[in-house]
Formats: sequence, structure tokens, C-alpha cells
Amino acid sequence: MRTLKFLFVVVLAATLSIGCNDKKAEKTVKEATETVKENVTEAAESAKDAVKEAVEEIQEAVSGDVSKVTIAGNDKMQYDLKTITVKAGQKVELTLNHIGKMSKQTMGHNWVLVKPDTDLGKFGVAAASAADTDYIPAEYEDQVIAHTKMLGGGESDSITFDAPAPGTYTFLCSFPGHNVLMRGEFIVE
Ligand code: ZN
Repeated sequence: MRTLKFLFVVVLAATLSIGCNDKKAEKTVKEATETVKENVTEAAESAKDAVKEAVEEIQEAVSGDVSKVTIAGNDKMQYDLKTITVKAGQKVELTLNHIGKMSKQTMGHNWVLVKPDTDLGKFGVAAASAADTDYIPAEYEDQVIAHTKMLGGGESDSITFDAPAPGTYTFLCSFPGHNVLMRGEFIVE
């Protein structure tokens, strides 16, 4: 009888202990499952993003939807390109590098694309007195299709814009006195 009672106590204790451990284990498994789920979801999301980006890059490369243009301006008041040609409907990603050493105040360069009917002489005069707006004259805003920031030596700026309708446009630097030398044709085929 005494043995039986002892056995009962042992079994009860064991059962309680197992029950308790089971709950703990259950909780641990649940937490682990949740962590795995979260990690899998995160991994799936980032994989999805990576695939999407890769597909977009391939699409751009295949369709030629983006035209990447790099142009430089130097301390001799010159661009290294006289002509830029893109296709209608393309996105243009243009980077201007000021490869000189002089400051923005003495040898500033930007890249400004203007509409074909723009009076370049008048535009240049208006730009020269538009220091407050980085030499982009407010009264000619609707003539300007796209423009970079005004840069000093060693600086760069990139812009993206939609190629305008087919035609021949002018690009120039609107820093006072620069547009006569720093001027080129932007051709949209
Ligand atoms: Zn310039």
C-alpha cells in the first residue's frame, strides 16, 4: 500500500513535469515557427524586389528605353560634346561632370535644354541676370525642357527627363557669357 502511494506520487510528478515541459516545448516550437515564417517572408520579399529590378533593367536594355548621356564641361568654357542624339519616346539620363578646378562663381557650368524657337541671344541676356535662380531665367521657364544644377569644378549632377518630340533642340550653359561657346545640338530622332 505504501509502495503504491509512492508510485502514484511519482507518476503524478512525472505527468506534471511532462505536461509543463510540453507546454514549454510547444511555445518554443511556435516561436521558432513564427521566426522562420517571418524570415521566409522577408527573404521572399527581397527576392521578389531583386527579380523585379533585374527584369526592369533587362527590359530597359532590350527596348532601349533609356538613353544614358554623359557630358563634361572644363575650365576652358567647353563641353566635350557638340551633338547629342536620342530617340523619341526615350527617357534620357544625362550626367554633367565639371572636370575643371575653378569655382562655380567664376567658371560655373550647367546643361540647359531649350525649345527650338527660343531666342538664344535674349535667353542668354535674361539668364545672365538670373543669379538668384542659378541662371535659369524665370521668364523663360516654359522654354526650358530640362536643366541640371549649376556646378563648380569637380562637381556632377544627373537628371532624367523624357525626350521631347522629334526635332533639333539646343543645349547650352546659361552661366553669364558661356552660351556662345558652350552650345550644342540635341537631336531627337
Ligand atoms: Zn559654363
